Amino acid sequence: MTITTKDLQHLFALIAEDIAKNRDHLCELDGVIGDGDHGLAMDAGCQAAAKAVGELDAAQTAPTPAFNVAAKAFLNAVGASSGPLYATAFMRAGAAARDKQALTDDDFLRAFAAMAQGIQERGKAELGEKTMVDAWRPAADAALDSWRSGSSMAECFDAALQAARDGCEATSGMTAGKGRASRLGHRAIGHIDPGAASAVIMIAAMAKFAQH
Ligand code: ADP
Ligand code: MG
Ligand code: MG
Repeated sequence: MTITTKDLQHLFALIAEDIAKNRDHLCELDGVIGDGDHGLAMDAGCQAAAKAVGELDAAQTAPTPAFNVAAKAFLNAVGASSGPLYATAFMRAGAAARDKQALTDDDFLRAFAAMAQGIQERGKAELGEKTMVDAWRPAADAALDSWRSGSSMAECFDAALQAARDGCEATSGMTAGKGRASRLGHRAIGHIDPGAASAVIMIAAMAKFAQH
């Protein structure tokens, strides 16, 4: 499969649609251990990114600038912690795409892994600190492991999605080392992290995209 900017328009639209459907649920999760705005932040960011990428002339725009446009739109639309984290993720995906006109499966897997790396470097969260990193890091590792063992892109994203779901579930048992929930100490235990939950939704949309 080769992925062009036209395909990325489709991908960002898919992500925005699925995040929008889960907006209220994500706000509820953030209401328990944060400030209740995570669904609104992710919805605003993903809608803005999808709109900005959707407005590009796909035939004249390579994937790298398309990811950069998504990053800028997301950042401008979001006044919460998730803004700079996902803006960095999209910038890193763009850098991994290295100004090619179209991405191979290998390029796309690398872009996916670069998103996880970008989020981790921007937020400086380690695994186990009850953040979106607990979904993104295992998802990227599972995708890369699966890719190295010769799986198809669809299989790699299935593995990534399963790892993201497991990672998200595991945040329930954690205290938070980063973000607002870190002020709650042990009171955060028993609740999943909203950023990990939205990561699962985004990765699920990417997995759906990878099936085509
Ligand atoms: P805010 O807390 O500013 O309202 P959001 O509600 O949009 O921001 O996002 C909260 C989520 O951001 C958390 O659930 C967590 O997953 C994630 N998060 C917060 N700080 C960090 C960090 N330093 N690194 C990675 N993820 C983080
Ligand atoms: Mg919040
Ligand atoms: Mg907030």
